[in-house]
Amino acid sequence: MSKKIQAIRGMNDLLPDQSPVWQYFESQVQALMKRYGYDEIRTPIVEQTALFSRSIGEVTDIVEKEMYTFEDRNGDSLTLRPEGTASTVRAAMEHGLLHNQTQRLWYQGPMFRHERPQKGRYRQFHQVGVETYGLDGPDIDAEVILLSARLWKQLGLFEHVTLELNSLGSNEARAAYRDLLVSYFEQHHELLDEDSRRRLTSNPLRILDSKNPDMAEMLAGAPRLMDHLDAESREHFEALTARLDTAGIDYVINPRLVRGLDYYCRTVFEWTTNALGSQGTVCAGGRYDGLVEQLGGKPTPAVGFAMGIERLILLLETLDIVPAEARAPLDIYVLGMDESADGAAMALAEHLRDDSPKLNVQLHCGGGSFKSRIKKADRSGARIALLLGESELTSGQVAVKFLRDDREQCLVAQSALATTLDSLLSTATA
Ligand code: ATP
Ligand code: MG
Repeated sequence: MSKKIQAIRGMNDLLPDQSPVWQYFESQVQALMKRYGYDEIRTPIVEQTALFSRSIGEVTDIVEKEMYTFEDRNGDSLTLRPEGTASTVRAAMEHGLLHNQTQRLWYQGPMFRHERPQKGRYRQFHQVGVETYGLDGPDIDAEVILLSARLWKQLGLFEHVTLELNSLGSNEARAAYRDLLVSYFEQHHELLDEDSRRRLTSNPLRILDSKNPDMAEMLAGAPRLMDHLDAESREHFEALTARLDTAGIDYVINPRLVRGLDYYCRTVFEWTTNALGSQGTVCAGGRYDGLVEQLGGKPTPAVGFAMGIERLILLLETLDIVPAEARAPLDIYVLGMDESADGAAMALAEHLRDDSPKLNVQLHCGGGSFKSRIKKADRSGARIALLLGESELTSGQVAVKFLRDDREQCLVAQSALATTLDSLLSTATA
């Protein structure tokens, strides 16, 4: 026998018992985006490699070692998107969505990064993100944070997540701070690990983000960007925190929060949880005022975030707070008692779907003995089976069998089926 082909490591199948939770999450997101006036954008999964290397930054983990990059048959360098912001900017510019207008957009879909797979970290994972363009005030920073907070509330997660905030200041303020930081790190050169030494020249701010416990004490003593902000960024940040205070959203200022992508300026934030071990960031974002221009567009302020769907689903499951309705079971299984009634059973199932669009109805297919038909009805998870045999066909009735309750089977006129089912289902066990 030849060897079976398996899925690629870190890329998951979403199986039927999990998809209801995803659908629940996705429907909550869709409804929420509408309520805030955000429009969905869908971009291709593959883009030119330069789009990501130019936006995310050459010396970030993502571009240095995590991208799925390949040459296509024309010899062009293409990359499976590792995140959604760059593609959204590219599409918005390409279709003229940015010129003298504001946009509030959202997206969802798979992203690809060649990381070490572990709980909450995969090579194909899914994000929901929002991106807003054309607004530079702190009001829109506050709005995207409030939008995410409302999602946590809707999902029952609000008590389990913490908002961390920082400001990266203007590019000029950050450049001046960078010099300060480099000289601090140079004084403590012996404490830097290999990665950090490499970053000392290429991307010193990223060192602040290091999770190496041996560096923690030294990092705690590093100069804080927060203390070196330009006046405008400070004002912006204070106005943002004032809005959050008014809205009753608690936050922790984390002066070491720098984010793993180079395009951020001013506001950066993360929603984190303690319930998922070290993969604790469920949503992350911030302001990226320079990116549109960097990618060849007119200067356009922008702010957005992305959340990791796998981590949020994991959190919902860990906390066991997926509502039972999310896994809406079958209501009805329709079966002929033998082959001669199969055609009538199909017609009955279609009538039910015409008359009662809310009911979830599955039809028995594949024939079999009466016993095996009933067994399949039971396994389907439906609450009620509708049975059609010769005598029911003659009398214009249908037999109702309760699959989850200890209740007598009964006969119902087919003409009155829709209304009778309503009351039968309201008393039958789900
Ligand atoms: P982390 O610090 O966990 O590596 P990141 O800073 O690389 O995250 P972003 O690029 O900002 O993450 O992506 C936003 C969110 O997408 C993350 O907060 C996380 O919830 C999710 N995410 C990122 N990478 C992965 C991954 N490999 N697998 C699953 N989810 C991920
Ligand atoms: Mg990462």
